[in-house]
Amino acid sequence: MDKTYNPFTTAQEQFDKVAEMLNLDQAMKKMLRNSMREYHFLIPVRMDDGSVEVFRGFRVLHNDARGPGKGGIRFHPQETIDTVRALAMWMTWKCAVVDIPLGGGKGGVICDPHNLSSREQELLCRGWVRQISKNVGPLSDVPAPDVMTNAQHMLWMLDEYETIHGAKYPGFITGKPVGMGGSLGRKEATGYGVIFTVREALKEMGVRPEDTIASVQGFGNVARHAIELYQQIGGGVIAVSCWDQKDNTSYTFRKTDGVSLDELLTITDSFGSIDKNKASDLGYTVLDGSAWIEQEADILIPAALENQINAETVSKMSQRVKLIAEGANGPTTIEADETIKKRNIFLIPDFLANAGGVTCSYFEQVQCNMNYYWTKEETLGKLDEKMTSAFIAVSDLAREKKLYMRDAAYVIAIDRVAKAARYRGWV
Ligand code: NAD
Repeated sequence: MDKTYNPFTTAQEQFDKVAEMLNLDQAMKKMLRNSMREYHFLIPVRMDDGSVEVFRGFRVLHNDARGPGKGGIRFHPQETIDTVRALAMWMTWKCAVVDIPLGGGKGGVICDPHNLSSREQELLCRGWVRQISKNVGPLSDVPAPDVMTNAQHMLWMLDEYETIHGAKYPGFITGKPVGMGGSLGRKEATGYGVIFTVREALKEMGVRPEDTIASVQGFGNVARHAIELYQQIGGGVIAVSCWDQKDNTSYTFRKTDGVSLDELLTITDSFGSIDKNKASDLGYTVLDGSAWIEQEADILIPAALENQINAETVSKMSQRVKLIAEGANGPTTIEADETIKKRNIFLIPDFLANAGGVTCSYFEQVQCNMNYYWTKEETLGKLDEKMTSAFIAVSDLAREKKLYMRDAAYVIAIDRVAKAARYRGWV
């Protein structure tokens, strides 16, 4: 990863541009371009070999004018406070653009779960909650899974929170296992949400999904469900890329007649890394990690990490690309965004494209509050409605005001949050 790239600077620059367009006053700008609350803490964990490792954890609440903070917890060796700040800010805009009554938060721990046993991961999750339990909660700030955290991690965290507070609080955290307060459809929600917006964008462009080919970066939760639904609606996927923990680098796996999700899943570990030797045996061409962006594809779906479409990689993008759906948070730098805009590529910005996850998390909270659970079809149907109407509102505004899609999404989201802060009398 580029050490000089700072996602928070990107998030603030994106905000500043739209704040000018919306004519926000100085106080409002100052409030919305910064986090309202930030917590940094240490988490000591007794490791399996008897030694104690001390991990650094974070929780950032960017803004809660529209409702309790909402946002995942990421376990990553390169986690930084600025990454968490940026992701928390993007969560505020994400909840606002799909119009759910939540604010933006994010958490993280600097660690590599690949190198931690299950017991060590459990202690880390419980330790994270012990450090922050007074400052998060169902009515203040609600965590969820993110990169390298999953339903099991969420349940350990819930159990610790409920033990500390002496009662059941299923709304404390989302992304829980189904049957333990989790919502059916949550697993699929982000990836499917990306494709609901891709489907709508293609409709607008007058292109049939069956006539398109996509290249995908990442092979984790978001990417594989995006691939699943995209293939169901007729699209073909030429390549996927993922991180290889053993080689400490990324690879792209290409099959010109289309990658098979089921086949690749049989050779993928629990962190979304595909075994390159087995992939080779199955007829995949194994290429450099950045090759996903160079493929002859109509659609690019970055669904791994931030800063992946940057000044260097964007120049390698095929002329065939006509649509980019940002499954990951912050995958595109400001410079690359300019190129995408100039090339007239239809962009579905991250906080709209990947809002399916938080929308379903909101549905999970609603179900927990009722203690009554919907079927998967019902949940995904409601998700489709929310994503489709959010997409249409953004693309209508973009067309009407001749705005770039990212700017149109920001205008809607920032305006909603600024209004909420004003109604509350904060600014
Ligand atoms: P995940 O941990 O399940 O998968 C991440 C994938 O990215 C893995 O396949 C990993 O191998 C791959 N990867 C990591 N570094 C890479 C690199 N340098 N090059 C290529 N591949 C690389 O994570 P996820 O939940 O699928 O999240 C992916 C992105 O989507 C993140 O930006 C996350 O913040 C965002 N997101 C996730 C959700 C969700 O519900 N899971 C919701 C909204 C946004």
